[in-house]
Amino acid sequence: MNKLSLTILWMYPDLMSTYGDRGNIIVLTKRSQWRGIVVNIIENGIEKADLIFMGGAQDRQQKIVSRDLFSKKGEILRQKIEEGVPGLFICGAYQFLGHYYLPAEGDKIPGLSIFDAYTRHYGLQKPRAIGNIVIDWNGKKLVGFENHGGRTYLGKKVRPFGLVLKGYGNNGEDKTEGAVYKNAYGTYLHGPILPKNPEFADFLIQKALEVKYKKEIKLKSLDNSLEQQAKKSILQKIV
Ligand code: GLN
Repeated sequence: MNKLSLTILWMYPDLMSTYGDRGNIIVLTKRSQWRGIVVNIIENGIEKADLIFMGGAQDRQQKIVSRDLFSKKGEILRQKIEEGVPGLFICGAYQFLGHYYLPAEGDKIPGLSIFDAYTRHYGLQKPRAIGNIVIDWNGKKLVGFENHGGRTYLGKKVRPFGLVLKGYGNNGEDKTEGAVYKNAYGTYLHGPILPKNPEFADFLIQKALEVKYKKEIKLKSLDNSLEQQAKKSILQKIV
């Protein structure tokens, strides 16, 4: 039987990978390879992507990236998401997929309006959202670390990724965290999120394979005891 393969697009690795978000690429790669799945990491050529990842960044890098993203790249990214290709977008990347990000200073950074959401940074009027965070994702606890000034507000045409059990989440007010549209996931969870939450990493890998091969895929289970021990110790500390 031919081996399964996954082409993972890592967008703007040099500019958008704050707080170790590159760890998510390592986890997606390893947890696929441990199952005999051939992995190809690309940095360009959105058309070829079976799974898309973009990490977080500070406002300065977001301004640089937005100019590039608003070339034809943004439109191809939209098409891929409309086709159901899974994507994981962290913090500043998440903000790009909304209608706009209004920094505390400077001009509004337009978004791709893939998520019906907008983000505004209130400067010193509201505290920066920093710290460990725990969310409920479909009944499972996911842990991470957040560090963002922007506050995101969801519209009616998008659903939250999770509900905040501990931490700020989207805006520290409505208990929502992140956003989901089709198979595109936006979240404020750095950490990085995937090493701390293998169940979500496997969810993304499985979804990407099912969309690519147009059939149900059952992933071989892996020994997650180390990851679960790490998550347990984090939860004991913060919840
Ligand atoms: N610059 C954005 C904010 O502060 C995103 C920061 C990040 O990606 N961690 O809200």
